[in-house]
Amino acid sequence: MPTDFTRALAIVAHPDDVEYGTAAAVATWVDQGREVSYLLATRGEAGIDGIPPQESAQVRESEQRASARVVGVSTVEFLNHRDGVIEYGPALRRDLTAAIRAHRPELVITINHHDTWGGTTWNTPDHRAVGRAALDAAADAGNRWIFSELGNEGLAPWDGVRWVAVAGSPWPTHAVDVTDGFERGVRSLLEHRSYIEGLTDTDPRTYCREVLDWITGSAAPRFGGRPAVAFELFAR
Ligand SMILES: [Zn+2]
Repeated sequence: MPTDFTRALAIVAHPDDVEYGTAAAVATWVDQGREVSYLLATRGEAGIDGIPPQESAQVRESEQRASARVVGVSTVEFLNHRDGVIEYGPALRRDLTAAIRAHRPELVITINHHDTWGGTTWNTPDHRAVGRAALDAAADAGNRWIFSELGNEGLAPWDGVRWVAVAGSPWPTHAVDVTDGFERGVRSLLEHRSYIEGLTDTDPRTYCREVLDWITGSAAPRFGGRPAVAFELFAR
């Protein structure tokens, strides 16, 4: 992965999208003095079967903020798109463009925009929409004539995004050594306790460790055997 960046912005659909691997890399980047912020398109209110959306949104927002703190991230912003039915289109691109202009990152991280996670494991529509819009917004942010109203809101064009790194892609091209960030990655995922308790009967600690072992282990063979988080990197 490139290392010559000072600011990164992770743009994802739901609380926990960053924590399935990427957070371990974020911990490593923050250790190195880089500034990382999170932008979530929704509050994940449709994510827990046993908790109604209004209540779930509050729980998941606070769990997301706690999980960000574990890896040294203090800026966590939420858009008001609806969980499960995020629409790809100009409205979403505009929101992401505004965030990129406000944060001025050199690196944008997003979630798998492909149809599948590999093979025939179907991806969710929210991930596809947000991933694609993040890739598009990296360019939109630099063009003063696209969403020109943002200029009037004090958001000057930012053409400084040099890479978009897609997490969870079935076709990763780059990886980050997360030897040092691994344990914080596990704890960061563990902060999504309500979600995980709704998801599995496995003890949350065991679940989080197994998930992170699996994610970082699957990237390891192509990365000198080191625990790693892999990304598909789009350079601009
Ligand atoms: Zn998600």
